[in-house]
Amino acid sequence: MSTSTTPSSEIPYTVPLKDGIPKGHTTHTESTTTIFLPKEGAFLNPVQHYNRDMSVAVIRAWNELRKEEQETKFRNKLAKTGGVPKKKKGKSKEAAKEEGGGEKAAADPETLAENSLNEQPTAGPSTERKFRPPSINILEALAATGLRSIRYAKEIPNVKFVLANDLSPSACEAMRRNVEFNGVGEYSLPPRQPWVPKSAENGDTSKAENGDEPMKEEEQVKKAEEPKQLIGEDGLEIKDKVGRRPGCRGRVKINEGDACAFMYSHRSPIGPSSRVDVVDLDPYGTAAPFIDAAIGSISDGGLLAITCTDLAVLAGQQYPEKCYSNYGGTNVHAEYTHEAALRLVLHSLATCAARYGRYITPLLSFSIDFYVRLFVRINTGPEQVKRVASKSGVVFTCNFCESSVTQPFGRIVERETSKGVVRETFKTHAGPTPKNGSNCEECGGTMHLGGPLWLGPIQDPTFAKRVITEISAQEKEYKTFPRMLGMLSLAAQELPDPFFFTANRIAKSVHLPSLPLNKILSALLNAGYKVSRSHAQAGAIKTNAPRSFIYDILREEAKTNPIRIDKIAEGSPARVLIAKAMTHTIDFTPHPDASLERTGKETFYQINPLPNWGPAPRAKSIQVNVTGPVKDNKRKVEEALENAMDSKKVKVDGTESEAIRGSVEGIEIDSKDEVLQGENQGGQEEEEMMNL
Ligand SMILES: [Zn+2]
Repeated sequence: MSTSTTPSSEIPYTVPLKDGIPKGHTTHTESTTTIFLPKEGAFLNPVQHYNRDMSVAVIRAWNELRKEEQETKFRNKLAKTGGVPKKKKGKSKEAAKEEGGGEKAAADPETLAENSLNEQPTAGPSTERKFRPPSINILEALAATGLRSIRYAKEIPNVKFVLANDLSPSACEAMRRNVEFNGVGEYSLPPRQPWVPKSAENGDTSKAENGDEPMKEEEQVKKAEEPKQLIGEDGLEIKDKVGRRPGCRGRVKINEGDACAFMYSHRSPIGPSSRVDVVDLDPYGTAAPFIDAAIGSISDGGLLAITCTDLAVLAGQQYPEKCYSNYGGTNVHAEYTHEAALRLVLHSLATCAARYGRYITPLLSFSIDFYVRLFVRINTGPEQVKRVASKSGVVFTCNFCESSVTQPFGRIVERETSKGVVRETFKTHAGPTPKNGSNCEECGGTMHLGGPLWLGPIQDPTFAKRVITEISAQEKEYKTFPRMLGMLSLAAQELPDPFFFTANRIAKSVHLPSLPLNKILSALLNAGYKVSRSHAQAGAIKTNAPRSFIYDILREEAKTNPIRIDKIAEGSPARVLIAKAMTHTIDFTPHPDASLERTGKETFYQINPLPNWGPAPRAKSIQVNVTGPVKDNKRKVEEALENAMDSKKVKVDGTESEAIRGSVEGIEIDSKDEVLQGENQGGQEEEEMMNL
């Protein structure tokens, strides 16, 4: 269906359909995309809006990062071959002109750089060779309604195809309808060039040109040269008729079939079904059965976005056996259990990748509401694979004071040869028990074994800042901006050291009232230790100080605020903790950096807006034809999930959910951001928690 010959639909960014809105359906709009929802009991899980916004922003930022890496390679190669590297750096991404098919996009960066190098420039005022970023393909393994895939096609530059897979014929049918409605179908007329607003300077969106029309060559050059104003008067980016953001030209290809089989078919680095650049795994429950297939199908430097909604298994103490069978490690029962959950998933990814000579680089790892969401880069490299053992290990956690001892499996020994070359050898560790047998060094409590899990960094602060820059420049494109900003700000400052503690929990161990956060932070900073928050829990403190130092803070406090020892039972580990001699000097002088305050409009810790906040039960009513081994736990039919959430049974208190429902019912809610902000500033206690 061509968008240029038909009158515009009443719903923005959609194309008129021959048969109109399907019977018994209503529409739901999210950002650039509108999908059909069944009228009966239709309810979108509001949490997922945030998840999708974040995914769009992260993939956009990763895309920019990868383009920069590829351009550096391209320039280095040019320099080597005597070409003239272009000196003018930092050209705008929208100006980046792409060329060629998607097949080459799936190849390795090096091949890509080579391809780019071999291409002759077709435009430009000078004879300098231009770098043209290759297009990318994204694979969504369990696409359900296709909402996410459509958003990716419209909102991520350089995308050629989003390959949206689902096993269910009914889901695929719904997806085809939604994709067609949004004008981004596989067979819809593709824009030959990425969408670039024509009359962006005067903010006149009505004159925005049809994205299907190719720009003239000299026009493209002009566009590439001049600084562009891509934001309209409403503060939103100027989009094409079907809602493509500048630089975007993506379309959605639908595949009906088994997710793993589809991903395995993209395992080859070359060929018609070559690797894809991004895989998004968002199943209902655990993503474990899809990890092997996903890791194999991602090109080097590519991105894996993965969700696991089985936090009851990954965190807490209930299902260590299930956690082990799904992720290859047991969960950790402590206040930092959600961070351990992320590390369990990363360990699972790292060991899986290692089997194929590949390694992971975590960019962002989030524990959110009732699920974990991780963004991890995949590369091939035997040298890095050797380091996996040193980044993995087990953790011993005290069942009384939650003190933890980590035990990596490997260590790397560096030796300098007589010629001054540093050689690395890979060794195992002494151990495996903690120093003090099986008892806690601090309180004598029993240590419990957890893991193996990933002990390396779980966030890449530089990348987090990159995403912050990305979303701050297009704040209005993201309805859940305050929460995204909060989460990313936390990730950007989070220390790489495993685990954290809270003032409440440690004070409880010795029967002291909780110490003010500033006091604890000052003591740590005055002694030269680093401190940060953790995104995983409000009030959490991450530090590189030893646990003994943290307990010395309590012992110092007890000097002026005596503990009623008679109230503590004989033989309690609390007595051991209190009686222990101090080994550090504690200085409570207020430190200037001791406040980890919020700086702007970020929302750090979302207070659960619904009483029974969490994943809805798996839908039973929707007909899904599930066969073969991917039967249980491995499907996410978002539509089904939405159906299952009966909006009448869920109390809504003026939050995101209401905004979503409002839009479903056709009620315009102007700024959900304000609603979120207001809600979070409601309770003073909550505010204190958030400000940490
Ligand atoms: Zn202990």
